[in-house]
This record gives sequence, C-alpha cells and structure tokens, in this order.
Amino acid sequence: SEAKRVAVITGSYKGLGLETGIQLVEKGLQVILTSRDRLKGEPVAAKLKEDGIPVDYHQLDVTNPLSISELTGYVRDTYGHWDVLVNNAGIFPDADSGTIFNADLDIIRHTLNTNTLGALNMAQVAVPFMKANNYGRIVNVSSGMGQLDDMGGQYASYRISKTALNAVTRILNAELVGTNILVNSVCPGWVRTDMGGSSAARSVQEGADTIVWLATLADGSPSGGFFRDRQSIPW
Ligand code: NDP
Repeated sequence: SEAKRVAVITGSYKGLGLETGIQLVEKGLQVILTSRDRLKGEPVAAKLKEDGIPVDYHQLDVTNPLSISELTGYVRDTYGHWDVLVNNAGIFPDADSGTIFNADLDIIRHTLNTNTLGALNMAQVAVPFMKANNYGRIVNVSSGMGQLDDMGGQYASYRISKTALNAVTRILNAELVGTNILVNSVCPGWVRTDMGGSSAARSVQEGADTIVWLATLADGSPSGGFFRDRQSIPW
C-alpha cells in the first residue's frame, strides 16, 4: 500500500491549525503538528495520541531559518517525502490598531516576517520534496482583510501581510503551472480562536473546512486561487 501523505501544519497546537490537523488525520494523512514553543505543542500531540488521533510532532518557528532547516531534516529522515504544507501560523498584532498613516513600521516588519515570509520560506523548503514526487498541496491561510477591494481602516500591518501572502500564492502557482503541485489561498471566515475572539461567527470545525478541502484536492483541481466556503473569492 502507498505511504500516507505527509502534511506539515504551521502553528498547529491550537486554533485553526490544530483543527486542520485533526481533520487531516481523519482523512488518513500523516500529520506533523508543529509549534514554535515545544512546551506548548508536545503535550497537545501526546493528548491527541491518547485520544486515538495519531499525530507526529516537531518544533517549528516559521521565522527561524535554523528551526525550519531542522524540521526539513526531520521530514527527510523520518518520511522521505513531504506532500502537504498548510501555512497556518499567523499573528494579528494587538498593538496594531493603526491605519496606514500611523501604523508602526516595526510592527509591519514583524507581521510580514511571520505571516508572509515565514510562509514563503516554508514553501521554499517543501517544494523540492513535492517536485520529487510530482505531488503537492500548499494552502496559505490568508484573510478577507487581504482583499484588495476592501483595504481601508485599521490593522494595516495584517492587511499588508495577507495581501502579500496572496501574492506569494500567485507567484508560486505561476512557477508551478503544469505540475501536480497546487497552491491556493483561503479565508477561513471569522472564527472563534484566540485570534478571532469568542464573538466570532464560526466554529473551528467550520473554519477548517475549506483549509482541509484545499489540502486534499484531487489531481487536476484549481491552483492559484483564493477561496472561502469552497468558493472562489476576489483578490
Ligand atoms: P491562533 O492565534 O489561535 O493561532 C495562531 C497560531 O500561529 C498559534 O499557534 C501561534 O503560536 C502560531 N504562530 C505565530 N507565530 C508563529 C511563528 N513565528 N512560528 C510558528 N507558529 C507561530 O489563531 P487562528 O487559529 O485563528 O489563526 C490561524 C490562521 O488563520 C492565521 O494565519 C490567521 O491570520 C488566520 N485567520 C484567522 C481568522 C479568525 O477569525 N480566527 C480569520 C482570518 C484568518 P503561538 O501561540 O506560539 O503564538
């Protein structure tokens, strides 16, 4: 029988990342849960295993090249293939209530570093594995706040970072046309997590649905798109 598809999910000890991991295990994938703080992630993975949800765990800080290279070495040595990357890790800086006129550039740099460059760096290390097997699914967890037609108001750093993440999706896709490596962006909707808060409309189960769908697309499915509720949405 074929080896299970290996999926790495960034920032996945809680929130949408954790739920995505659980749903991907249910679909038969080998999930590697990750967290930047080992002490937060390892117990979550152990508890899942106790509950009959087998996941692997590895430390990963998407802003730390050494951490990324250790994770990459672990995937190579342990599995030898890497089929699915869910770029879920993200920050929504509390301090950033600013508009484009007064947003702190250091906060913008920090947010870009995590939400955009972290995801890009992860794709850079995952794509060679995917090319080797001509199979890959990359899901960039973006936001409606990154939509170009809806750009006013607060949270400038977050908006810029998610718009740039969508550009990463498009550029990767253009470079991968004709391969079986599919790269898409998703807006999960407003979801009850530490980031979304308790008044958000959606459960994590609902929020993870389109992420999981994109992570398990059949061959020949769309690539280079932006989706919410499994439907294409404007950039
Ligand atoms: P959470 O705050 O619950 O989860 C975010 C995760 O990202 C945490 O595990 C966090 O870890 C991790 N993370 C942050 N920085 C790094 C880093 N440098 N390296 C590794 N992991 C990191 O939020 P959600 O689950 O809601 O968010 C998941 C994604 O969904 C994000 O990209 C977010 O922007 C997006 N999204 C969420 C929406 C919502 O309504 N909830 C709406 C639209 C998009 P730690 O605890 O260590 O900081």
